[in-house]
Amino acid sequence: MKQISKNIAFNLRLLRKERAWSLDKAAHETGVSKAMLGQIEREESSPTVATLWKIATGFKVPFSSFLEKPRIGKTPDSENKDTQLFHSADGKMRVDPIFPFDQKLRFEMFVIQLLPHYEHLSPPHEKGVVEHVVVVAGEIEVLMDGIWKSLKCGEGLHFDAHKPHGYRNPASEIGTFHDIIHYPDRQQKILKK
Ligand code: MN
Repeated sequence: MKQISKNIAFNLRLLRKERAWSLDKAAHETGVSKAMLGQIEREESSPTVATLWKIATGFKVPFSSFLEKPRIGKTPDSENKDTQLFHSADGKMRVDPIFPFDQKLRFEMFVIQLLPHYEHLSPPHEKGVVEHVVVVAGEIEVLMDGIWKSLKCGEGLHFDAHKPHGYRNPASEIGTFHDIIHYPDRQQKILKK
């Protein structure tokens, strides 16, 4: 099993323990089946990008937090460099963190590649999450407010990501974009009240 799957398994087990969430509760919050969550935790299955995004969204944690080395404790081979790369089991979408989640600045940044004609629908993130998408190669269409907007290389847009949204590659060559995701500071909001 690749290091990345070990990291995902470890971070998922840790998160569930911290929250004291049963597999049932985690399945309910993420929309990913109990069986699948169990398989991921036992490193029997590698989640697709779409599944991992559902899990991150359900737990309200940044996507890249699953890819990092475990935050506490140790897993075998934790020095392995195969930690900064993740691609869909079907290989049609590839997500590489450029900057993993920054606690202070509350953002993470990815380079995302979509194979020709591949479409990814993202589950809505928690309220206050904003995504900035900039196309760096090929062509990408972004779904926001129910409309697909076409972006050429060098063009970008941002949107409130608590609404359903998606990305697709309408072209016959690989499309690549940068995605900067900002997360609200929940602590700050509580303090201000
Ligand atoms: Mn998204």
